[in-house]
Amino acid sequence: LLRTFANKKAALQLGRMCYSSSSVPTTKLFIDGKFVESNTSEWLDIHDPATNEVVGRVPKATQEEMLAAVNSCSRAFHSWSETSILSRQQIFLRYQQLIKDNIKELAKLITLEQGKTLADAEGDVFRGLQVVEHACSITSLMLGETLPSITKDMDTYTYRLPIGVCAGIAPFNFPAMIPLWMYPLGMVCGNTYLMKPSERVPGCTMLLAKMLQDSGAPDGTLNIIHGQHAAVNFICDHPAIKAISFVGSNQAGEYIYERGSKNGKRVQSNMGAKNHGVVMPDANKENTLNQLVGAAFGAAGQRCMALSTAIFVGESREWLPELVERSRSLRVNAGDQPGADVGPLISPEAKTRVESLIQSGVDEGAKLLLDGRKVNVKGYENGNFVGPTILGNVTSNMTCYREEIFGPVLVVLEADTLDEAISLINNNPYGNGTAIFTTNGATARKYTHEVDVGQIGVNVPIPVPLPMFSFTGSRGSFRGDTNFYGKQGIQFYTQIKTVTSQWKAEDATVTSPAVTMPT
Ligand code: NAD
Repeated sequence: LLRTFANKKAALQLGRMCYSSSSVPTTKLFIDGKFVESNTSEWLDIHDPATNEVVGRVPKATQEEMLAAVNSCSRAFHSWSETSILSRQQIFLRYQQLIKDNIKELAKLITLEQGKTLADAEGDVFRGLQVVEHACSITSLMLGETLPSITKDMDTYTYRLPIGVCAGIAPFNFPAMIPLWMYPLGMVCGNTYLMKPSERVPGCTMLLAKMLQDSGAPDGTLNIIHGQHAAVNFICDHPAIKAISFVGSNQAGEYIYERGSKNGKRVQSNMGAKNHGVVMPDANKENTLNQLVGAAFGAAGQRCMALSTAIFVGESREWLPELVERSRSLRVNAGDQPGADVGPLISPEAKTRVESLIQSGVDEGAKLLLDGRKVNVKGYENGNFVGPTILGNVTSNMTCYREEIFGPVLVVLEADTLDEAISLINNNPYGNGTAIFTTNGATARKYTHEVDVGQIGVNVPIPVPLPMFSFTGSRGSFRGDTNFYGKQGIQFYTQIKTVTSQWKAEDATVTSPAVTMPT
């Protein structure tokens, strides 16, 4: 399936292997082990965000196609869940190698559909690959527990077992990493899986599906449908689906959590963010400013863990002019161009929205320290580019502070004390990630204990946990009670069966019925 290619045209060619051969490639569905053309009459265009050229189309799967996909998952569940855990492990061992061998090819497809720079797209694949590698430890991760001799001749032990058909609904910003948070862990536990990738960036998931098939995953263990609301409603409502993993915006995530839960499903819903970076005056200035710039503007700010808000405490506010100069020096360009630091936003609508949030800051009294709205990217005049933008003098009542901007915009607040900074953060509705920059251990310790946020970096700007831990966003950034990947991910995709057994010696006969509660 996978061969190297040098440019966008060749990337498209590669994508077409899972698309059809019409002049504008159409994304296929993956049903029961086959890549099939949809019979739908409703299609959505996929654009290259750097040019807004249409590079493909994606179907809104019909009801019959979605039913065929979930039925395929249901049929495959019995034999897949009974397949030995060592066989499932072997498939994922082959899978991680195939992904590793083809990171560059996957990255090119991500840059084509999503826009991020090639280096960043490789990071996107790599962070997903780490979850697949972790899934290969399933023989340890799925161990149950045993307590012998809870009373005479009696032992209790637990099994972790798969739950059935699981489903994943993914966002546009990490076309590889986030789908790879979902189906590999779900499947290695013995579940079958229905994926709905983001309709804006479906190509990468299709290639990953082909690679999983090439690794030996049996037909029906993974099915892929495409679409928007109707596909999401189908997933929330179909009784065969036992669990839903969602990552995306609050609007969709709250809705899916409510609708899926009401239908008796487990739902884990990772949602939006407003991540604060707190800069203490004792921080290492050089490291802090570089880390802040990278974490605010990398991926054009379209990361749920982007540091989109900085709080300068005390005298560190004097570093602001230098922060502005470093941000100005980033190169805005198409993601496949050499030296690009900041790529385009996903769509013209996203660009308009980000620009209007910048304007709202100006209108509400913020100081525009760096304005990326008029950025000119030579040769890519139709792209959705916004350059690095910094709003200073921001206060917590401003729209640009209250809303997730999801673009290359850093809003800057100032605080006199660490307590003031912590109180600001704890009053913000989101709780995804945060970072503190300091050289004082006591300051760092106080911060990590008192701040009410799921993922905290100490001199680490984007503290996305490795997969042996879990992704632990909290408050307004998460609904559910079991997080993605790590031990919690295994819990989410399994149920526990507890066996209490008694094997008495022949002479120890039960002589009369016990009608009281056994103690
Ligand atoms: P999105 O919510 O628009 O789309 C996510 C998925 O939900 C897509 O598959 C889409 O088809 C579906 N969807 C969209 N709107 C829907 C609706 N109204 N009803 C039902 N389904 C709907 O999100 P996006 O724009 O693709 O991604 C960006 C968002 O995702 C940001 O808010 C970002 O913070 C968040 N995100 C969160 C995490 C995290 O782990 N917390 C990670 C990545 C992205």
